[in-house]
Amino acid sequence: MALNLKEFTRFEKQIILKKIGISGQKKIKRAKVLIIGIGGLGCPLLSYLASSGISNIGIVDHDKIELGNLNRQILFDTSDLGKYKVNRAKVKIKKIYNQIKIKTFKTKISKKNIKSILKKYEIICDGTDNFNTRLLINDYCKKNNKILISAAISKFDGHLFKFNFKKKTPCFRCFMPQQPFQEINCDVEGIFPPVAGILGSLQANEVLKTILDLKDDISGNILIFDSLKMIIRKSKIQINPNCSNLCKN
Ligand SMILES: [Zn+2]
Repeated sequence: MALNLKEFTRFEKQIILKKIGISGQKKIKRAKVLIIGIGGLGCPLLSYLASSGISNIGIVDHDKIELGNLNRQILFDTSDLGKYKVNRAKVKIKKIYNQIKIKTFKTKISKKNIKSILKKYEIICDGTDNFNTRLLINDYCKKNNKILISAAISKFDGHLFKFNFKKKTPCFRCFMPQQPFQEINCDVEGIFPPVAGILGSLQANEVLKTILDLKDDISGNILIFDSLKMIIRKSKIQINPNCSNLCKN
């Protein structure tokens, strides 16, 4: 898969980075990434992945754009209200870079459809806002040796995880075996808009590092961002010997 002159010019500022180069840009072009949830996290994540040159991206979301989304879902504007997020996101991204293949899935991930949606993608990005879906995606990725890069946001804080299930690793269920008593998400708890942008961008950062095979990523760790204290902490997730996914050391 060669790069033409137009591509070279478009991506020149990243190609000149020693850790990317022409060979890295080709890896980026070849990558297949799925983004689940085109909300506060999915909008910046999709924008950065598309503008970096990933040419095969799938997007999953069943929601329509509402006025209350516009404080943080930066791909959308008032003319998009009432329209499906995946459709509008595709139109906007095509304006940035029309060479990208974007496959839209206007649905909610379920036990029935997860295989047919996820199977063609190597890297799965989870930006959904509920634990049931998060656990379903985790379990599928674990079983099928995918790479899962997840983010979650609430109030002034954000969490970021990466699990490379091609290797020995804990999973999300090791960290949180069951749905908590009370669901925590933006709708209930509120969200500080830049936290969505920061975590979505951090997710893009880890996706690109994974594609480029750069070391020092956050695999098997949780990254916790506190926007009020301006602190980022990274801590290792322990493998839970009782995990129902049979995670083992
Ligand atoms: Zn586990």
